[in-house]
Amino acid sequence: MSEAAVKKLPRIVINEKFCKGCSICIDFCPTDVLELKGNCVAVKNLEACTRCQLCDLRCPDFAIQVFD
Ligand code: SF4
Ligand code: SF4
Repeated sequence: MSEAAVKKLPRIVINEKFCKGCSICIDFCPTDVLELKGNCVAVKNLEACTRCQLCDLRCPDFAIQVFD
């Protein structure tokens, strides 16, 4: 596969100091990208992320950001 054909993945940045593990972002994610690990959200399937930003917009604590 040529380099140009490789799908560019989004970057999801989680601030573990801000995240309280409320699961709101997990519930809003339409493609089941996120999961809870202990008291903090984690990425389980980055490939499925559509960059819709719902997690970013719905987090009350500004703990998750999605970059294209
Ligand atoms: S909505 Fe925010 S605080 Fe809640 S689990 Fe997701 S990243 Fe953490
Ligand atoms: S940007 Fe959308 S698809 Fe990606 S993790 Fe957030 S809610 Fe899920």
